[in-house]
Amino acid sequence: MKTIAVLGSTGSIGTQTLEVARANGDLKIAALAAGRNIKMLENQIREFHPSAVAVWEEEAAAQLRTAVADLDVKVVAGMDGLIEISTLPEVEILVTAIVGMIGIRPTIEAIKAGKDIALANKETLVTAGHIIMPLAKECNVRILPVDSEHSAIFQSLNGENRERVAKLLITASGGPFRGRTREQLKNVKVEDALKHPNWSMGQKITIDSATLVNKGLEVMEAKWLFGIDLDRIQVVVQPQSVIHSMVEFVDGAIIAELGTPDMKLPIQYALYYPDRRFLAGERLDFGKLARITFEEPDTDVFSGLPLAYRAAGEGGSMPTVFNAANEKAVSKFLHRQINFLDIYEIITECMDAHKTIQNPGVEEILDAEAATYELIESRW
Ligand code: NAD
Ligand code: MG
Repeated sequence: MKTIAVLGSTGSIGTQTLEVARANGDLKIAALAAGRNIKMLENQIREFHPSAVAVWEEEAAAQLRTAVADLDVKVVAGMDGLIEISTLPEVEILVTAIVGMIGIRPTIEAIKAGKDIALANKETLVTAGHIIMPLAKECNVRILPVDSEHSAIFQSLNGENRERVAKLLITASGGPFRGRTREQLKNVKVEDALKHPNWSMGQKITIDSATLVNKGLEVMEAKWLFGIDLDRIQVVVQPQSVIHSMVEFVDGAIIAELGTPDMKLPIQYALYYPDRRFLAGERLDFGKLARITFEEPDTDVFSGLPLAYRAAGEGGSMPTVFNAANEKAVSKFLHRQINFLDIYEIITECMDAHKTIQNPGVEEILDAEAATYELIESRW
């Protein structure tokens, strides 16, 4: 029996984590955290009986306390609440399925408390990888990737000497707008951007897949997770999303992980690592699939990717600015306040305006985030 806590339990990764727990029957859910969906959280509490849950706002916490007054569960709120449930003594693995930089502090505190991290919340590594990775090493905890590409790389590295890695090949579907020109992207609608060809995910990451910003964030995530320089991380477009990513070794051998696109696989792999469990679902049928194709990413049209390499190359606080500018821009796009291509423009202007701080602490990271938000609010 493993005991886990899930931050972001009502989201796409969070609900699939609970599906994995439901199907296996031997994961104890000690704690859950969510933002606004109190009704779903209540149902989850009734099914999984956590000892503590966190919701962001005190008012929502009060509502939830009333709704579950018949149960033995502690309801906490705010950042203190998130940290409290992430560091509960019985928790062995913290699943960070929350969206955004709000995940930084709970992740750091959980590592200090000796919890392994099943990491979905890529923003945490993108902005604070220089803090998280050395801390994890010092505290002897494992960072187990949940992102499908990173899980594929993690699986491909099993039993290998990491010194013999030549490069990481991160695959990308190319998103719903693959093959389009910039002109054709000018007036695309939110609905079109939300139609991901292969993966079903939360709204923010689905837009990030359409802009290729998600792939850029994943390059940065890979850099920290696997300790590899940027010039040895290559993005390959593989539109069928069958190859989830690959590792090329110094002898030219390439090892990949393939499968049908289902996030439950990397989630389950992280939770049971190094074991594998049965997972119900479709299997790859190579006869039916017939072909797997490859392309280079179109970095002229989808400038989210080169912008990410630029941010990662500058390092320090710049990836935070890249990430924060994108978060705000995506939110504005989802609220129909800006056009699709404005997302790139906003990220570029925010990065141009920022003076990089090397090796920023958590406070400086959060300050850079706040300053970026302010700049955007004042201009757009
Ligand atoms: P989502 O929007 O579906 O869910 C986000 C969850 O976080 C929800 O439960 C929400 O209630 C919770 N949340 C948001 N703000 C909160 C707050 N202030 N306090 C407490 N909880 C809060 O997002 P998602 O698609 O599940 O993605 C989650 C993370 O996983 C992101 O970092 C994303 O990049 C990463 N990821 C997702 C996928 C995917 O397939 N969805 C794949 C790889 C990585
Ligand atoms: Mg991914």
